[in-house]
Amino acid sequence: MASMMQPQIILLKEGTDTSQGKAQLLSNINAVTAVGDVVRTTLGPRGMDKLIHDDKGSVTISNDGATIMKLLDIVHPAAKILVDIAKSQDSEVGDGTTTVVLLAAEFLKEAKPFVEDGVHSQNLIRSYRTASTLAIEKVKELAVSIEGKSVEEKKGLLAKCAATTLSSKLIGGEKEFFATMVVDAVMAIGDDDRLNLIGIKKVPGGNMRDSFLVDGVAFKKTFSYAGFEQQPKKFLNPKILLLNIELELKSEKENAEIRLSDPSQYQSIVDAEWNIIYDKLDKCVESGAKVVLSRLAIGDLATQYFADRDIFCAGRVAEEDLNRVAAAAGGTVQTSVNNIIPEVLGTCEIFEEKQVGGERFNIFSGCPSGRTATIVLRGGADQFIEEAERSLHDAIMIVRRAVKNSTVVPGGGAIDMEVSKYLRQHSRTIAGKSQLFINSYAKALEVIPRQLCDNAGFDATDVLNKLRQKHAMQSGEGASYGVDINTGGIADSYANFVWEPAVVKINAINAATEAACLILSVDETVKNPKSESAQGDAATGAMGRGRGGGRGRGMRRR
Ligand code: ADP
Ligand code: MG
Repeated sequence: MASMMQPQIILLKEGTDTSQGKAQLLSNINAVTAVGDVVRTTLGPRGMDKLIHDDKGSVTISNDGATIMKLLDIVHPAAKILVDIAKSQDSEVGDGTTTVVLLAAEFLKEAKPFVEDGVHSQNLIRSYRTASTLAIEKVKELAVSIEGKSVEEKKGLLAKCAATTLSSKLIGGEKEFFATMVVDAVMAIGDDDRLNLIGIKKVPGGNMRDSFLVDGVAFKKTFSYAGFEQQPKKFLNPKILLLNIELELKSEKENAEIRLSDPSQYQSIVDAEWNIIYDKLDKCVESGAKVVLSRLAIGDLATQYFADRDIFCAGRVAEEDLNRVAAAAGGTVQTSVNNIIPEVLGTCEIFEEKQVGGERFNIFSGCPSGRTATIVLRGGADQFIEEAERSLHDAIMIVRRAVKNSTVVPGGGAIDMEVSKYLRQHSRTIAGKSQLFINSYAKALEVIPRQLCDNAGFDATDVLNKLRQKHAMQSGEGASYGVDINTGGIADSYANFVWEPAVVKINAINAATEAACLILSVDETVKNPKSESAQGDAATGAMGRGRGGGRGRGMRRR
C-alpha cells in the first residue's frame, strides 16, 4: 500500500522513447553492419558500382565510398557516424573511404559476440584503442619512403600510386593514361596547397583517350557578340588583361530625368555615353594587352572595337577561371581601366581558342608561374564523366598526399594482413581478456583482403590461408604479399606496384577505431517525438558530435 502512495517521478517528457542497455548497443551494431554491407561490394579493382537515384530523378553512378554514403541519406543516428567518417576520410586524405566504413563495421561485428556475452564495452574500447595505436605504429614502421629519388623516378612511383587508386574505378581500364596525367598536373602546381589550381573541365562526347592535360588554364568559350569571329584566335606570348568591369554601352536607366533647355544639348548627352565607353576601350588597347578577359559582360560594341584592333576578348568569364588565369599568367584582376601598369598584365606562351568536341575552349598554355593545370575530360555519358571526375579527384588527392608525405605501403590487403599478424602475435603476450579483444581487432583487419577476393569472385578462404602462411614466415619476406587481382592467387603487392600512401591506411585505421569506440560507448538513445525537427538534430548531433556537446543523454563517453 505504502509504495502506491509514492509520487511518480517524471523525468522525461511524455511520449519520450528511450531504449537502453545491451539491446540498444546491439541494435546500433546491427545498423552499422547493415551500412557496411551496402558499400562492401564496391571495394577494390573488381568492386561493383552503385547506381543511386534520388527523389528529384537525378542519377549518380559511383564507386566512391564517401559519395555513396552521402547519397544514401541514412537516418539511423548510429549509422550516421559512418557517413561522417567517410566524409572526413574523403576530405583528409581523399581515398580509402570504402575501407574506413568497412573497417568500422567489421570492428563492431567482431565486438558483437562479446557484447552479447556481457563484456562491458569499456573493456572492449580500451583494447581497441591499444590495438589501434599498435597498428598505426606498425604501419608507420612498414612504410617505405620514396624520398630522395630523381624527379623522373619519383614521377613513375607516383603514377603507380595514382594507378592503384584508379584501378577500382570506372576509368580503371585507362588507369596508366590518367595516372600520368594526374601526376603531371600535380607536379605542375608544385607544393601550392590550393586544390582548385587543378581544374577539371568536362566535355561530354568523344573517347576517354581524347582527354588531355593543359599546362595552364582552359575554359569553355564564353558567350560572345557579333564581331567575335573577326578576332584573332591564336597568339604567341600575348599580354593578358584581366578585368572585373563591364565593357558595355550603358543607356541611362528608364527613370533618369534630364532637363534640356536646348535640343542640341541632347547630342552631347548621347556623346558622353559613347565617350565613356570609348575611353575605357582605348585604355585597354593602350595597355598593350592582346587578350582581354572580364568577369562581367563585354558587349557588342567592345567586341567589334577589339576585333578591329586584333585583340581577343571574352566576357562573363567564371570567377574561378579568371582567378586561375591570374595565378597562372601572373596578372592581377583590375576593377578599373585607369592606370593599367605593365605589372598587372599577365602573359603566357600560347593562347588559343580550340575546338574540343562540340565545344570551343580558350586555352592558355605555357604560363610563367606554371602553377596551374587543367584536365579536359572526354567521355560518353554525363554520369560517366562525373564519376570519372570523382575518380580523378581521388587520384589527385593521393598523389598530393604522396608528394607531401612520400611514404607508401603495399596495397591489395598486404599491409592489413601484416598488421593483423603483428597484433595477433602481440596479443599472445597479454594476459587477461584483452588478449581476446585484440585478437578480434586483428581478425577484423582481414576484412580488406577478404572483401577484395569476394568482390573479384575468388575463393576468399583459400587466398586468406595462403596469405596468412606467407605473412607468418619468420624471415619476413612475405610481408608485402597481398591479393593478386589478376590471377586469384597471391602476389607481392610491393613488387607489382600496388601501392597506397601510408597516410590513407593510418587515417582509415584511426577513424574506423574511433567510430567503433564511439558507438560502443553509447548505451542509451533518447528520442523525443514532440518536436520533429529538433529531434533529428538532437539525435544525430549527440552521436556525431562525439566528445563535443553534452546535450544527448545517450552520449556517455568513457
Ligand atoms: P577505397 O574507397 O577505400 O579507396 P577502393 O574501391 O578504391 O576503396 O579500393 C581500395 C582497395 O583496393 C585498397 O585496399 C587497395 O589496396 C586495393 N587495390 C587497388 N588496386 C589493386 C590491385 N591492382 N590489386 C589488388 N588490390 C588493389
Ligand atoms: Mg580508392
